[in-house]
Amino acid sequence: MHLFNDGVKILAKKASLTNLRSFITEEKGQQFSNVVIESTAAVPLEISYPRPNLCRVSLSAELIMYPGPLVVRDGIVAEVVIKPAAAAQVELDISLEEAVQALITTVKGLPYRTVFGFSRKPLYDFYQDKEIVIDPGHGGADGGWRGPVDLWERDMAWQTAGELAAILAGYGARVVLTRGEGENPSWQQRLSKVGPATFCFVSVHHYGNTDREQRGTAVLYNPRLPGNEQLAEVVLERIINKVKTPARGIKADNELALLGEVPALKLEPVTITNWVDEGLLRNPYLHRKVALQTVLGIKQYFRAGEKL
Ligand SMILES: [Zn+2]
Repeated sequence: MHLFNDGVKILAKKASLTNLRSFITEEKGQQFSNVVIESTAAVPLEISYPRPNLCRVSLSAELIMYPGPLVVRDGIVAEVVIKPAAAAQVELDISLEEAVQALITTVKGLPYRTVFGFSRKPLYDFYQDKEIVIDPGHGGADGGWRGPVDLWERDMAWQTAGELAAILAGYGARVVLTRGEGENPSWQQRLSKVGPATFCFVSVHHYGNTDREQRGTAVLYNPRLPGNEQLAEVVLERIINKVKTPARGIKADNELALLGEVPALKLEPVTITNWVDEGLLRNPYLHRKVALQTVLGIKQYFRAGEKL
């Protein structure tokens, strides 16, 4: 046997885990939440589901990386914990927000990749054909609050609302916008978009204050509908967990109360008048994270209600 082949054989005997990642992919309209393990060679593994929401993988390998936890919270994968088990064994616990099972694929090469793909179909199942009214705050001549550098609340609300609309439409929801980009309808005109088929109304703003020290995230709710307070709590918790902003809390909103018993939220993802928060708004991922966590929070709240 050639020396070169010997070398490869030695590597193949003792795989080491070097990296752990998670990301969402989409192919032909099908989304997957992927957990990827990188290793120095192929890794023999066994997979089991001790609970419907827990995928456990036993790997014959060594751990030479930071063991986590990796907090994902993408609506399907909650968290990944990797820990040494018996000799030359590593245990990977993938806790799930939905009871879905993994499709395993491997990609040869260096690093060697083992991919656990979890279907994001539960999100389609929930949102398919639901009508959601999205209200981008302000518009036209009404810029809303202005950040210390140059951003306007009107434009940032438009951007966040656009992400929200795109994500919801992607899951089959029927999205209705209360305004076009250059328009500034009255509150009554905005509310008139809500009809008997409306599942939820989401108004998007960013908070502002003359005190530039103030920063953080709040979610306002419709006090006319029992339970809307908990809906706001779930959405707020999910946003701050991902965006890492301080929580300004939840608050009853009198404007939303005009909707009667329609589930309704007003988002204030950041405080645009604060330097740090205005800076966050420059990152397109901020808008995407806020939008995704809002979509997931709404589903989480209503699904929890169904199970009662
Ligand atoms: Zn506003």
